[in-house]
Amino acid sequence: RDEVSGSGIYGFGKTGGRIPVGIGRRRWRIVVTGGAGFVGSHLVDKLIERGDDVIVIDNFFTGRKENLVHHLRNPRFELIRHDVVEPILLEVDQIYHLACPASPVHYKYNPVKTIKTNVMGTLNMLGLAKRIGARFLLTSTSEVYGDPLEHPQKETYWGNVNPIGERSCYDEGKRTAETLAMDYHRGAEVEVRIARIFNTYGPRMCLDDGRVVSNFVAQAIRKQPLTVYGDGKQTRSFQYVSDLVNGLVALMEGEHVGPFNLGNPGEFTMLELAEVVKETIDPSATIEFRANTADDPHKRKPDISKAKSLLNWEPKVALREGLPLMVSDFQKRILIEDEGKGF
Ligand code: NAD
Ligand code: UDP
Ligand code: UDP
Repeated sequence: RDEVSGSGIYGFGKTGGRIPVGIGRRRWRIVVTGGAGFVGSHLVDKLIERGDDVIVIDNFFTGRKENLVHHLRNPRFELIRHDVVEPILLEVDQIYHLACPASPVHYKYNPVKTIKTNVMGTLNMLGLAKRIGARFLLTSTSEVYGDPLEHPQKETYWGNVNPIGERSCYDEGKRTAETLAMDYHRGAEVEVRIARIFNTYGPRMCLDDGRVVSNFVAQAIRKQPLTVYGDGKQTRSFQYVSDLVNGLVALMEGEHVGPFNLGNPGEFTMLELAEVVKETIDPSATIEFRANTADDPHKRKPDISKAKSLLNWEPKVALREGLPLMVSDFQKRILIEDEGKGF
């Protein structure tokens, strides 16, 4: 292991002060589970860029090697194909635990596997954190609030979740993951951090993952109608991925366990989102209404005052600024896909 500067003897699991690499702290070794996915790969970029060593664990269910291809020749980067449902032995300082499909289409595909990933996967990563004294960050979700009866949602709200519905593998899975994290924190003194992430978008989302922003953007580029589910009056709050990554790092390095809402409070109906996508890509795009999915939350908007005051974090990128950054990535990838198909 390399010393960044002469800070003397060190051991894994002692994250020490929060001095950036290069001005006094040693280089950390950091695991990112799910690092080949959308959010994980952007987080890896930031950790590598600031000078730390990164190990990605991913089973490539929804992740892609392409998201990390620019790091593959970097000796400070390691990619391990591994399923977090199985135990693993590593020596690291910090664990960012992201492994879990996030799109409803993906997490409903094999719901039992989604529960195993959330429960057994999180248990294994907490067991690892306990053994080596690493700090552990869980990426939980706004879905723990279910179809919320409180609006906007504060971290103190316990949620309105259907325990036996089609989304339960994900929202109840994440709720159990939070419980596990808190029990390891209280019972085994693991340093845990819990982020409740609200809908996030940006480059590298799967083109066809079924989430609303990726669907609308891909549809507008492909000159297909934008599919609005239900009456389109349900709301979501959309956060650009760089804001989320900054929030995750601030949380990991701060002194507070959480949970913290990480999201952009700007709230849009799906019809409003469709209009923003039209303005950005193709004003002549049409809208097609489809039946909504079961248990779809009617509204969602984070109260981020806790993260603002304790982490000194707030999102910076508005939807109309972030969307064009995602659109150019999608345009390139859709072009490559079409060329591959011989169009
Ligand atoms: P994603 O599907 O792009 O990434 C998930 C990654 O985890 C993929 O690379 C996938 O291959 C990997 N993975 C899944 N199951 C695994 C397993 N059993 N073992 C090892 N790797 C596994 O999703 P994302 O949007 O990047 O989400 C990352 C995390 O953030 C997830 O935990 C998700 O629940 C959480 N989150 C995301 C959002 C969002 O809007 N993107 C919102 C709330 C929470
Ligand atoms: N675990 C792991 N890597 C480690 C340490 C533990 O994958 O370095 C797994 C371990 O296999 C177990 C889980 O984490 O399934 C919980 O471990 P813990 O030690 O907390 O509980 P126990 O093994 O006593 O059930
Ligand atoms: N949605 C939509 N059209 C689509 C995909 C999704 O209108 O093509 C709606 C969906 O019904 C939900 C919202 O968009 O109300 C957000 O869905 P998404 O799957 O992106 O995330 P969720 O917040 O439900 O996890």
